[in-house]
Amino acid sequence: MAVRTIFSMAEECARAERSGWHDFVRDYAPVARTLLIHYFPSLSPDIEQHVIGVFARAYANGCEWFRQLRFQNEREFAMSFRELVFAYGRSVARLPKPEISLDQFSEVVKDLPVVERQLLWLFVKGYNAQQIAPMMMNAEATANAVKEIADNRLAEVLPEASSAAFTVSARALMESAEQTKGEQCLALRTYNNLVNGQITWRERELAEQHMSDCFYCLDRYTGYQEMIRINKDREPLGEADVERVLRAVGVEPAEKKKGLFARLLAKS
Ligand SMILES: [Zn+2]
Repeated sequence: MAVRTIFSMAEECARAERSGWHDFVRDYAPVARTLLIHYFPSLSPDIEQHVIGVFARAYANGCEWFRQLRFQNEREFAMSFRELVFAYGRSVARLPKPEISLDQFSEVVKDLPVVERQLLWLFVKGYNAQQIAPMMMNAEATANAVKEIADNRLAEVLPEASSAAFTVSARALMESAEQTKGEQCLALRTYNNLVNGQITWRERELAEQHMSDCFYCLDRYTGYQEMIRINKDREPLGEADVERVLRAVGVEPAEKKKGLFARLLAKS
């Protein structure tokens, strides 16, 4: 969606206008679906209902979610939407029992460079090397090599754990990482500059230095890269499905054009 239209869409949505909600559902229902299935697989059997649940939250209280929303571009909008989806998923899907803690993960990645930590965090999030490569603009080979290092380290830290321990623990690790947010944490604008390469060498160094010590930014920055990829890959929802979601959420139906008969009656 062009920069111009994401802002007007959000304004229309804040006023509960159908045109905005139509585009929002068309473009973002597939994103909600992708995120819910990936991070909350137990919701998969009733996924269509849960997608509606996400949009119902944004529509609740006179579209309050949109009225308090602030963003600079579609990437930032997508990050807010991601938070909305996660808040929904966390409230309805039971948290799987983690096998490793953030402290143990920290032990696994100690002394690994920041890029390798990012790769590994994306593995934790359940992506494979093939999926991670385009997210990070990195070769698959690097991703696989890092995964191997991590598996070996995991075996040292937690001898009884399997490689699946990372993914099983993903949700809990992400929640722990979110709680480590501090005052020095990077702004979304900095993430954007990093992704676009519009950053001085010195600024990049500072940002990466911070990220190598901060699980909050590690999680959020990889989430940022992930959302860019999910948005690029999304296929707009079909018209009939858009209508179905709008109806379920309670968006006002489109006004029917008056037929010839009604117009004749009005004249007489
Ligand atoms: Zn941080």
